[in-house]
Amino acid sequence: MRYYSLNNKASKVSFSEAVITGLAPDRGLYFPENIQPLPSSFFENIEEMDTVEIAYQAIQQFVGDEIPESELRAILADVLSFEFPVVPIEDRIGTLELFHGPTMAFKDVGARFMARCLGYFNQNNKNNVTVLVATSGDTGGAVAKGFLGVQGVDVVILYPSGKVSTIQEKQLTTLGQNITALETDGVFDDCQDMVKTAFLDKEITNQKQLTSANSINVARWLPQLFYFLFAYKQVKHKGKNIIFSVPSGNFGNICAGIVAKQLGLPVKHFVASTNSNDTVVRYLKTLNYEPRSSKATISNAMDVGNPSNFIRIQKLFNHNFEELKHSFSAYSFSDEQTKEAMKNIFNTTGYIADPHGAVGYLGLKEKGIREDEFGIFLETAHPVKFLDVVENTLNIEISIPEQIAEIIHKKKKSISIHNYEELKEFLLA
Ligand SMILES: *Cc1c(COP(=O)(O)O)cnc(C)c1O
Repeated sequence: MRYYSLNNKASKVSFSEAVITGLAPDRGLYFPENIQPLPSSFFENIEEMDTVEIAYQAIQQFVGDEIPESELRAILADVLSFEFPVVPIEDRIGTLELFHGPTMAFKDVGARFMARCLGYFNQNNKNNVTVLVATSGDTGGAVAKGFLGVQGVDVVILYPSGKVSTIQEKQLTTLGQNITALETDGVFDDCQDMVKTAFLDKEITNQKQLTSANSINVARWLPQLFYFLFAYKQVKHKGKNIIFSVPSGNFGNICAGIVAKQLGLPVKHFVASTNSNDTVVRYLKTLNYEPRSSKATISNAMDVGNPSNFIRIQKLFNHNFEELKHSFSAYSFSDEQTKEAMKNIFNTTGYIADPHGAVGYLGLKEKGIREDEFGIFLETAHPVKFLDVVENTLNIEISIPEQIAEIIHKKKKSISIHNYEELKEFLLA
């Protein structure tokens, strides 16, 4: 598979080049040259396939012959070593739990897949690759854990000071080895801007092979399409039209879902559910794409004012606004509404939703699920990751799972930086 830049000025590259460089030299996001639908037999037989088989069939065309089949299957088996259950919530609503991985957020799959691909591509290379990543919360932890100890790869994580939860901060600042955390004043978008600037800074890139582990990287972004296939396998027998609601920040996850649909997955509609960072919601109303700087909310992993993957979504709909609106809606919800939803879900069903999942639930409610439909909202993080909000909102105590217990008392190690020059100095040191 070849990938081209959505800015159309850079030359086409292979999968490995797209993974190793992250962003194209013209600052555009890489996009697959063509997306070949899977045969209908794939969807007819999906209930008989295990997760690794489903994932292999779905991702094979995007990797091409750059990773041999046995190696790719081994990578997938390693990456997908936990459950992805659809849990019933109401008659016509279920939640796809994506938090059973090592850092308890859905980003584990993309981060682990990318780490293993990069490790494979870099195994015979003398020079280290530096993964530089900005995080609004969960990316950092998933990337840190996914890349920990990977030979030939150094990881630098940039996060907004005081704007990630305590557990998220522990996950990205306590690992050591090849992982370094930098904290900076400002919001997530400032971190993301600094990272993008570094990628284009020749003084850095002449000395260092930098790559991104944000969902702009195709190896982080594309494996997320598996989730939608795994969910379909579990609810197919209901024979209903499926509506997915995806709590969205950078819009990588939902964009991967739309790729799954292009592969032939029967999905009736996608709902992008956001917090008050509502750039896409406003765009759908006004046709004006006006990014704003991000606002802090209780669903902080979605505090993104300029979602980088929205351009890929537009491409998937051929920049046709009518087509986009036909199968895609976006709604935004306040923190108050989110807390009300968490209480509602808990009081009527006993289910503990984290703030991101609750936003997803609200999206389904706003859309409305008819008799012949089944709505699935993605539960993107375990409630323990947002301990204070969940415990205070629901008046309960959550027991701490093992993955979290083992880091919570570790000592935080981070370096404070105050501007781009300091980031650059650090990278060149
Ligand atoms: C990253 C994240 C999101 C947003 O996903 P995008 O792919 O950036 O839209 C939602 N929920 C949680 C818990 C996350 O970590």
